Amino acid sequence: MTEEFQDSDRKDWDTYFMDIAYMVSTRSRCPRRHVGTVLVQGKKLLGTAYNGAPMGVADCSEDGCMIVEELEMTQVGDTERMVKKQRCIRTIHAEQNLLLFTDRIDREGSTVYVTDQPCWTCANMLANSGVREIVYHRAYAKDSDKVISLMRLKGIVFRNLAHYEPPAQAGMNVIS
Ligand SMILES: [Zn+2]
Ligand SMILES: [Zn+2]
Repeated sequence: MTEEFQDSDRKDWDTYFMDIAYMVSTRSRCPRRHVGTVLVQGKKLLGTAYNGAPMGVADCSEDGCMIVEELEMTQVGDTERMVKKQRCIRTIHAEQNLLLFTDRIDREGSTVYVTDQPCWTCANMLANSGVREIVYHRAYAKDSDKVISLMRLKGIVFRNLAHYEPPAQAGMNVIS
């Protein structure tokens, strides 16, 4: 007797493509955050990318992270406070690499799945890239309100997969 394959056991498309984005993120060599992203056009995978140093340049695992300190406005309860944050600027962000390695024509009307909510610069670039929908998993608080209003302004669907569980081998603790 063969085991019945229940349709309810089958991965939905969001899970399917986010799982791939997480597997792609395991290629990242920045210990602070592994970000993966995929370009999807009509259920077809047209590109993958992760955060990393330019090709042929030492990455974070070889030369360490390139840390800068930045002052950031953070909401603490009802008050805004300036907080000093450390960021690694060695890598090209996953979304930026995706734009560097895909064609405009493949992006028109497409969906981008990305493990992490895009930062302001990536969101700004994606807003001008032809992408119609962005689906992300982990939230990223910095400039989140600005990113959300930009997406609204551009009419880009911006979805958070809040209940999604990444594959065990691809999850990591991010340093924010
Ligand atoms: Zn790094
Ligand atoms: Zn970014």
